[in-house]
This record gives sequence, C-alpha cells and structure tokens, in this order.
Amino acid sequence: MLRMSKLAKTYRTDEIKTSALCPFDLEVKQGEFVAVVGPSGSGKTTFLNITGLLEQASEGQYWLDGVEVSTLGDKDKSRLRNEKIGFVFQSFNLIPELNIYDNVEMPLRYRKLSAAQRKERVEQALEQVGLAKRQSHFPSQLSGGQQQRVAIARALAGSPSFLLADEPTGNLDSKMASGVMSLLKEINQKGTTIIMVTHDLSQVAFASRVIEVKDGVINDVENYAQEIA
Ligand code: ADP
Ligand code: ADP
Repeated sequence: MLRMSKLAKTYRTDEIKTSALCPFDLEVKQGEFVAVVGPSGSGKTTFLNITGLLEQASEGQYWLDGVEVSTLGDKDKSRLRNEKIGFVFQSFNLIPELNIYDNVEMPLRYRKLSAAQRKERVEQALEQVGLAKRQSHFPSQLSGGQQQRVAIARALAGSPSFLLADEPTGNLDSKMASGVMSLLKEINQKGTTIIMVTHDLSQVAFASRVIEVKDGVINDVENYAQEIA
C-alpha cells in the first residue's frame, strides 16, 4: 500500500521556485488500477516519479508498504525501488544492443538471484506478455507494441507490488495500444497495483480509480465518465 501525507514538491533552480505539486494526502491500496489524468505540465510525471522513488518530495511523508521513504539513504531507497516497483515508459527504453532476453533480465542482475532463478523469471515474464518465442530477437526487430510488451515483461520479472506507467501507449497506434491496455488489465487482475499516467480518455475505462492533477493540485475524480461528458 502507498500512503502519502502532506506530500509536496517544489523545484528550485537559481532564484526561481516552481511549485510542481501542492501538499496532498493520498492512499493507494493493493490491487487498485489508478489512472492519473490532467493537462500537460500539471505535475503528473512529478507525481509518478516521486511515487516511484526516482525523485524526492520536498515536504511531507510517504510510506511505501509501510516504509517511510524520506528516512532512507540512497542505497536503501534503490533497493526498495528495485524490489517493489516496476516502471513502464512511453519510450519503451529498451537497450538496442541487447536481445529481448537480456533486456528483461537486466534489472534482475541487481537482485540476489541465482542464474537459474533469473532464467525462470525472464521466461515466465516473456510468456505472460506473449513473446516467449522472440527471446533472441533485438528490439529493432519488433513492432512498437511488442517492444512495449518487452518493457512490461522487464517490469514484471522483478515481481513488483506496483507497476508505474507513464503514457505507456503514447507511442503506439490504437490497435497496439489496446493490446497493451488489455495486458495491463490482466496484470492488475493478478494482483499488481497499477498507477498509469494517460492523456487518452479511452484508457481511463480500464482503471478502477481516476486521479486528476491540475496546476499541481491532486484530486480523486468520482464518475469521471460523466464529468467529461
Ligand atoms: P506533466 O507530467 O503533467 O506534464 P510535470 O510533472 O512534468 O507535468 O511538470 C510539472 C511542473 O513542474 C511543470 O511546471 C514543469 O515545468 C515543472 N518541472 C518538472 N520537472 C522540473 C525540473 N526538473 N526542474 C524545474 N521544474 C520542473
Ligand atoms: P516522455 O514522457 O517525455 O516520453 P518518459 O515517459 O520516457 O518520457 O519518461 C518520463 C520520466 O521518467 C522522465 O522524467 C525521464 O527522465 C524519466 N525516466 C525515463 N526512463 C527512465 C529510466 N529508465 N530510469 C529512470 N528515469 C527514467
């Protein structure tokens, strides 16, 4: 579970202060599928990066599965991130020089796992995204939708509690996008909590909860479909 209390983020560059996120309280329970919506520049990526321990909040407290993260040093924070969180980005972020198998195995190398355990996890993750047969191919040999499936397999191989996705279908055509969304839904139904930033209103339907960020202010939106109608 995630719990945030009076969390806020201000960027300071030289004399300029940008308030990216105003103080907010939020709880996300295990098994939720949260869509994060809002205009460009409203703070969605900042929210996701703080949630994923890629950035630090400037105020407030954040408990990730009971651990208050501001008390952790960099090393413990990296370990916690590696253990609990999987990331999926708009731009896939696969390593072009590595084949699919090696791409998916990459984050497991930072874990205390035997080679056999790593192999089992990689194969299971690729099986889950339907790309078991493409292990020895390189990213450039796959379609965008397939590359994003590899990125999802890479995130899943670590058995994360939370999958954080930033515009996961932003670079995909609508057919590939709907394949990726169905896969995310399936992963969520197996118990992984998902927090997904999206611009695409058709994807909000996959979520069980909608959070809107507007000028750095975070709010739950009830009846999102009615609200935009
Ligand atoms: P979104 O993801 O909704 O487009 P962001 O979270 O990227 O919004 O940005 C929120 C605000 O914080 C914007 O005003 C942006 O310019 C600012 N911001 C983001 N990252 C930085 C940074 N590293 N330094 C200064 N300002 C930043
Ligand atoms: P964009 O939405 O501009 O295409 P991405 O979705 O790829 O960008 O990335 C969103 C944010 O996460 C950016 O601030 C980027 O710097 C950061 N990021 C992207 N990939 C990684 C990564 N592998 N590790 C850490 N941070 C990343």
